[in-house]
Amino acid sequence: MSLDPKRAVAELKELRALTADENGAQRVAWTDTWLKAREWFATKVKRLPVEQHHDAAGNSWVTLPGASEKSLLIGGHLDSVPNGGWLDGALDEIAGLEVLRRIADEFRGRPPVTVRLVDWADEEGARFGRSLLGSSAFAGTHSIDADRGRTDRDGVKLEDALRRCGVQIDKFAEAEREQKNAAAYLELHIEQGPVLERMGLPLGVVLGTKGVERHNVTFHGQEAHSGSTPMNARRDALAAAAKLALEIRNVAKKHEDAVCTMGSVKTFPGIVTAVVGRCEVTLDQRDLDTKVLAQMYREAQDASQRFAAEEHCTVDWSRLWNIEPVPFHPHLLDLCEQAVRETSGSSHRMPSGPLHDAAEVARARIPTVMMFVQSLKGISHNKIEDTKEEHLEMSVVALDRLASKTIDWIAKQS
Ligand SMILES: [Zn+2]
Repeated sequence: MSLDPKRAVAELKELRALTADENGAQRVAWTDTWLKAREWFATKVKRLPVEQHHDAAGNSWVTLPGASEKSLLIGGHLDSVPNGGWLDGALDEIAGLEVLRRIADEFRGRPPVTVRLVDWADEEGARFGRSLLGSSAFAGTHSIDADRGRTDRDGVKLEDALRRCGVQIDKFAEAEREQKNAAAYLELHIEQGPVLERMGLPLGVVLGTKGVERHNVTFHGQEAHSGSTPMNARRDALAAAAKLALEIRNVAKKHEDAVCTMGSVKTFPGIVTAVVGRCEVTLDQRDLDTKVLAQMYREAQDASQRFAAEEHCTVDWSRLWNIEPVPFHPHLLDLCEQAVRETSGSSHRMPSGPLHDAAEVARARIPTVMMFVQSLKGISHNKIEDTKEEHLEMSVVALDRLASKTIDWIAKQS
């Protein structure tokens, strides 16, 4: 049984038919549809000479034992956002299955190193607002004690939803045991952005995941009557925020891959006849370089002070969340680039703006790399998410090549 990329595409369609409705994929973690997807996947895997189990955080592991216990890990996530696309997470997992089949066949069930396929539990965090839940348990970076009280929209507690799926929160940290013998981790994913399509490239090499600085910024001015207050006597909080909205774009554009977004603007009192007395905005800054990220953050802070002063307002900041950039492994980047070039003729190295399970694995100091395949129109987390079938097939071939190269690399170390 050699590699059959067309079968992977057919199985993606099979999964879509099983778990999507007219609004898109509904494989939200810890729901019945998600369990159905996992059951479907488990029956596919059963035909291989593998061991299957779930770890203490609900991650699903399929292990093909090799001559060496050192393991190549390939991962993805079968969970989706509500009304999601058919490829986000599922491509990684089903392409991984196809690669596992090829390896099992080529080495008659006993490859030189152990190969493990992982389906991470709750990558999306769609129901409880906690992304990368399973992979953070694996990496030992989880925050389960803080997360256990989280509830979904219907008031169901995270703790209870997990228990229903056989996961005990008190044992969550035991998932770290799965790190044993892990020598490398590979993840294929759709790009979810427009870069590869614009460059006319099917595949890309992912340098790492960008760090994030996420803040609330509040400008304080003075509410005043819109008719009676002369322009030069105003303390308009929105005017200061608007200047910042433009300036953060200039700050980000100074750096090649940096991005910065003001995603929310709230004005108070928020009526047509009053100067804005208070304006609350959010800032989300991302870059792969820690220094660049820190510099952008400082520049945005300085700019906010300057614009507040110009508009006779004050400003204060509060951090919502942040994460360090996670660069991937230099040698695996080279192997990934070779695999992509051999498959599609050319390659491009790019950072990932979205976070992925691969970032958690890399934080556990396991050599990690990701490969991207082009997304049509750069759209994801949407039922119209799509990728050309020929590109999907190429991505399976490229992941397979990367897996072979990585097995050789691991085997040489032992
Ligand atoms: Zn994903």
